[in-house]
This record gives sequence, structure tokens and C-alpha cells, in this order.
Amino acid sequence: MLFLRCNSVSFEIGTEYCRIRVMMNSEFRNLPSVDHVLAHEHIRQLADKHGYPHSLLVSVARESLDGARRAIASGSPPPSLDEIVKTIGHRLQELDTPLLRPVINASGVLLHTNLGRAPLSKEAAGAISEVAGKYTNLEFDLKAGRRGSRNVHVEGLLCQLTGAEAALVVNNNAAGVLLGLTALAKRKEVIVSRGQAVEIGGSFRIPDVMRQSGARLVEVGTTNCTYAADYEQAITDRTAALMRVHSSNFRLVGFVSQATLEEIVEIGHRHNVTVFDDLGSGCFLDTAEFGLDSEPMVQQSVDAGVGLTFFSGDKLVGGPQAGIIVGQKQLVDKLKRHPMARAVRIDKIRLAALIATLTHYLKGEATTKIPVWRMIATPMEEIERRAGLWVEALGGVGKVVDGETMVGGGSLPGGTLPTKLVAVGGRSRKKKGTNIAQAVSTKLRDMPVPIIGRISDDRLLLDPRSVLPEEDKTVLLALRKVASDIAKGH
Ligand SMILES: *Cc1c(COP(=O)(O)O)cnc(C)c1O
Repeated sequence: MLFLRCNSVSFEIGTEYCRIRVMMNSEFRNLPSVDHVLAHEHIRQLADKHGYPHSLLVSVARESLDGARRAIASGSPPPSLDEIVKTIGHRLQELDTPLLRPVINASGVLLHTNLGRAPLSKEAAGAISEVAGKYTNLEFDLKAGRRGSRNVHVEGLLCQLTGAEAALVVNNNAAGVLLGLTALAKRKEVIVSRGQAVEIGGSFRIPDVMRQSGARLVEVGTTNCTYAADYEQAITDRTAALMRVHSSNFRLVGFVSQATLEEIVEIGHRHNVTVFDDLGSGCFLDTAEFGLDSEPMVQQSVDAGVGLTFFSGDKLVGGPQAGIIVGQKQLVDKLKRHPMARAVRIDKIRLAALIATLTHYLKGEATTKIPVWRMIATPMEEIERRAGLWVEALGGVGKVVDGETMVGGGSLPGGTLPTKLVAVGGRSRKKKGTNIAQAVSTKLRDMPVPIIGRISDDRLLLDPRSVLPEEDKTVLLALRKVASDIAKGH
């Protein structure tokens, strides 16, 4: 539809019909004033009941009237006073509904960046509520009775877990890498394999981060092959570090070769140049034991003699958003002292959750407590049993099919886990399938706790693996509601 507007006259030209609507200035003029709206009985009652300040009422009323003007301008009839009042009532009500709220992730992507990556364990979430509303010893040494460091609480745990000499936690991994490069490689060179000068997504590109830090990126090798000798030949007296970047969101296949971390470290040692390792996800457990591809483990980097290893708190670690840096003490100390460390520091709330998460690993309970690992470790029979219950709740609208769960969030690009999916709509139903898949998907997103699936080949796919068993009750209720709506023809 083409839409033209000149002053108060607008033309809408549709494809099947042609309509010209002449709008009079009076349609705008007839809208009530802010004062008039606020004097309405319903608004006055709401304001009295909830004690809304006058300034809030005025701004919400203005917003609603602006909305009405925009609607009129695009050809809608002017709303009545009652309709405007109703809109204002809704807006005010929305203030009591948090904009950021829980959803159920049935998408089959365990670390879904759009859905907030890793859900926290009960203990980690509990640790947050424990410290959130209170003062804490965040930067207070209780023994000495004076100022302490926020990092000490978590550093010991990280060293114990990884065998590193020192550790530092910052806002996220992107900040950690930026801090490391800024503090140790500014105005110097960092050698990276051409196949690893990558984009991680969300505008995190290694060449850009390098530039931001003031370090000069020296790319060596080719897109598919980089040998140890390529690093060695590029070393000059301006080289600050050799850097490996884990290609966490894509996979090169075919004729490919990358120098191993051990080879890179060996060259670094010989030339007295340190090695940085951006692991991205970072993992403390061996993913291969769960039938996944091998994701490099933090302990392996530390053992190999890497100077600084960088990874995220909310990918396969399964904790809160955080950037974790472990490595050699003299290097970590330089990062701690750098002014940028203050700008990217972590807050007490996430620190509490990270400590609780790391404790699960030390206690050997990661796969029973940390949601991401519980999901990865769920046996197939259990998934199949739950998928069966979901289909039953859908009352014949769906069926159980074989599928794959993706780890996602920049981990294990080629790594998937076999799963059982609940499929709604699809090829067998031809044209109707698309409509059913979309309709059910919309209905599920509209639930009090929205349920998010994925659409593939005209089918809505719901994966029980990315849903915790304790959320099944909510899922079953929602699926039954959808089934009854469909049966009633809604
Ligand atoms: C995900 C990722 C990052 C960014 O980590 P955030 O915690 O999202 O800031 C950096 N490097 C690699 C290799 C990654 O996979």
C-alpha cells in the first residue's frame, strides 16, 4: 500500500482498490486535551488507588494522545475518549509488569544469546538474592578491618579449578580481551592466524577489538592453513603476544591446518613472547564425554603454559555474564592495575552467582546442579518420555520426531546432541502446516510465561532438552490451552 500525506489531506492507494480519504484538521482538533483525559473518572480512580504521581499521568496521557495522532495521520478513525482512557489504563498497568521477564526456552539452543544465555543454578540464583538487598564484604577485608579487593573472593576458586597462578573477573569476555590487549599490547604487535581473525557476532571482531586496544594485528598464514613457522617468522622486537582465538561459531572443513596451542606456546617460550588464548566459551568439563565435539578446556590452556586465557562466565561455564581471565601472576597483576579494569569491573550480584557456580565444579556436582550441564547430560529416554507428554497435551496437533539440540552461544559450532522434538504442522500438512506452526508459535509466545520454540521447514519444533523438568508443568498447561483453543477453532 502506498501512503501519501500532505498537510491534512492523505491518500492511500491500495492494490485492489483505490481510496482517497480526506482528513480534516478537526479530527486532530477533536482529540481531548491532556487535562480533559486526566479528569476522567477511571483515570482518577486508578491514580487514587495506586498513588501514581501527576507527572507520570501527564506523560502517559501525552504518549497516548501522540499515539492517537499518529493513528489518525495514517488513516485510522479518531479514538473516542473512552478508548484513549483505556489505552492509558493499559500503559499504567504495564508499569507493574516487568519488561524483562522469564521465558521458557524450548528452542533447542541451550546457550541462546537472545534468551540470556545460561540460566543459573538454584544455588547461584539464591546467592544473588542473598547479597542483592544487603551490604556485603565486597571490598572489605573482614579480618583486617580495612579495604579489600572484590577479586579475592573468586580468584582462589578459579586458581583451584584451573591450576592458574592468578585470575581476574570482569564484565564479559569481550571486555576481558580488550583489557588484556590494552594493558599488555598497546602500540605493539599481536600475531594471529588469518583463519582466526574472526567475528564472534554482536560486532565482536578480532581486528576491531585489536584496533580499539591500540595493538597492531599481524595476521599470519592463510584462511585455511597456518603453521607454527608462520608465527615464528612474524615475531619482531615489537611483538607483544601470539594469540589464539577459538573459532567458536564456525567450522573450517577440508584442507585445513592450524598450529596447535602447544606449538604456539613453544615458539613463544623460545622468543620470550607470551601467548593469549581467547577460548570464548571456556569449559571445565570434557564435552566429548557427553557425545559432543571436543570444546577446548581452560585447564588445557593453563597446562600448555598460556600467559592469559580468556573466557565467558555465561557460556559453557553455565554462570552469570562475566569475563574470566586466568593465567600467569605477573601478567594478571598488570591487568588488575590497569585503569580500564575499573571501567569493566564486575558487580557484587554477578560475582555472587559466579562464586556459587564455580563451587559446583569444585564439589563435583556441575552436571546435577548447573542447568546447562543438566540439559547436556539428560539421557535420551528421559527426553523422549517428556516429549511424549508434551504431544499428549497437544492432543494430536503435534508428534514426536528425531532432532538435534544445539549448544549455541558461540560454543561447539558443529556440535549437536541428539534429541526428541515435538513438531507441530509441517510438510505432511502442506499449506495448512505453515499456518498451524505459526499460529501455535504465536500462542505460545503469548502465554503468561512465554514459550519460545523454533520454526524450521514450516514446522514449529519444541525441544524438551532445553527446558528444565521443573518447567514442564507450565509447558503442559500451555500446550493444553493451545490444543483446546485450536479445537474450539480460535
Ligand atoms: C563469545 C566470545 C567472545 C565474547 O564473549 P562475551 O562474554 O559475549 O563478551 C569473545 N571471543 C570468543 C572466541 C567468543 O566465542
